[in-house]
Amino acid sequence: MADTILEVKNLTKYFKTKHGMLHAVDGINFKLARGKTLGLVGESGCGKSTTGRTILRLIEPTAGEIIFEGKDINKLSRSELRHARKDMQLIFQDPYSSLDPRKTVSQIISEPIIANKILKTSADIDARVAELMSTVGLAARLFNASPHELDGGRRQRIGIARALAMEPKFIVCDEPVSALDVSIQAQILNLLKELQAEFNLSYIFITHDLSVVNHFSDEIAVMYLGKIVEKAPAEQLFDNPLHPYTKALLSAAPVPNPDMKGNRIILQGDLPSPANPPQGCKFHTRCPHCMEVCKTVAPEYKDYGGGHYCACHLYDKK
Ligand code: SF4
Repeated sequence: MADTILEVKNLTKYFKTKHGMLHAVDGINFKLARGKTLGLVGESGCGKSTTGRTILRLIEPTAGEIIFEGKDINKLSRSELRHARKDMQLIFQDPYSSLDPRKTVSQIISEPIIANKILKTSADIDARVAELMSTVGLAARLFNASPHELDGGRRQRIGIARALAMEPKFIVCDEPVSALDVSIQAQILNLLKELQAEFNLSYIFITHDLSVVNHFSDEIAVMYLGKIVEKAPAEQLFDNPLHPYTKALLSAAPVPNPDMKGNRIILQGDLPSPANPPQGCKFHTRCPHCMEVCKTVAPEYKDYGGGHYCACHLYDKK
């Protein structure tokens, strides 16, 4: 892949819990090309948000490498990490809870500029905030507004402006439109797309909803119980899903795939606990195609051509 901005190797994050070791992220690998979007998709509890936060080192990984711009960020000193963090930002799911209601729009957006001493005079800071507001489509009259006066879409625009304040190269977008109405979702997705083109931003876009990443991601990785079970260029994943879990997710998503129409795959059972994951293929307790081998042997994560990776015994001989 040309010009890789981020490479994740064997990234692992376990949490100690009273029920045992919780395997939140269990040895995942991927690369992200500069200026592109990787959609990270899966049910709640599959480890996608932990993956995003671990990459940003908001959570310390248990093992693995996070190579950002050629450097393993696990090996950076505190000051080097502080510097790298300017290039790596996070947009949260719920703009309301992530914005301090006691502060004005301009105070929220200017926070990282002031904290990192990017600009010093209040005139320069105000001018930069006004510029950022214009970039994300916030009216200038909202400069001194409080976030609670605004609708969800505008609040998410504040979150985006704040993330852009550091002129990042890479943003983890963690369910950025899940809390928004469908019509507003499209506006925010379009804004993120426009910003990506304007600033050559690279995104990891985390969502539980495959229909949201349709037409948004260049590649999509599907996670299940801390593992990436399938990853492919977006079009290929939608047109020719391989993994039974991906097929089930697609069959439930309102996306235009004629092959899936009327064929909704209902998965049996609940998502097993990541503190006590099944042996063999982690999906075997819910898979409609489970074979004996699946119960004991974890399938290999293999490239089936054109960057289409999958971990499933159904394709062992192919
Ligand atoms: Fe299903 Fe077996 Fe493939 Fe796992 S390895 S997804 S259980 S067929």
